[in-house]
Amino acid sequence: MDNIVAEALTAMPVERKDGTYALRIPLAQGQCTPGMMKTVMETMAKFSLTSVRVTTGQRLNLEGIPKDKVDEVIASLGTKVDKVPPTVGVCTGAGVCKYGVQDSRGMGKKLLEVIKANGPYPFKIKSGVSGCKMVCAFSNVRDIGLVGTPKGWDVLFGGGAARNVRAGVKIGTKLGDDEALALIEKALDFYKENGRKRERISGLVDRLGEEALLEATK
Ligand code: SF4
Repeated sequence: MDNIVAEALTAMPVERKDGTYALRIPLAQGQCTPGMMKTVMETMAKFSLTSVRVTTGQRLNLEGIPKDKVDEVIASLGTKVDKVPPTVGVCTGAGVCKYGVQDSRGMGKKLLEVIKANGPYPFKIKSGVSGCKMVCAFSNVRDIGLVGTPKGWDVLFGGGAARNVRAGVKIGTKLGDDEALALIEKALDFYKENGRKRERISGLVDRLGEEALLEATK
């Protein structure tokens, strides 16, 4: 480990029920380098922390930090952020996974750029890009979901796995990267124009109906 250079991280504090804090550490597509792990492990050893958790959002949560130590722990990790940047959940995808037929990681990067470039939105957006119909990135219950097929991407919009579970509406099928992203931009316009403040896309689709979404994106 001596030949590994520690890498600085960003961290957002979140208060827990018992008064301790967790530090939410964003990762690009859930990937963690040895340098990042070194920073986390050295910080845990220094402050006698015993728990780091991988989240469903492909981030790390460092848990059990006493309130009076939060600033010191953040300084040891790197920099404090007040809000974690948006991410896109991705599966392993083609090129690595033997079932993959589309490059979910490459497409995840492109989708993240589209989401960032078109905001702000009425509320948060969770996305998932899966390289095949096994849908390991939960694309069918995400606000924006992409599912790889041998002939291109199926595009789902308005799914959700929160209070009101709903599958995303299929707004496009067998599309190339650029076609799929252009369709998503159109769907995001529909959300921006019609969504109420703090209304998730699934709530909007429930309120206005799938036909309105399909009409706006055809
Ligand atoms: S969705 Fe398909 S390509 Fe992605 S990890 Fe699962 S099985 Fe592999």
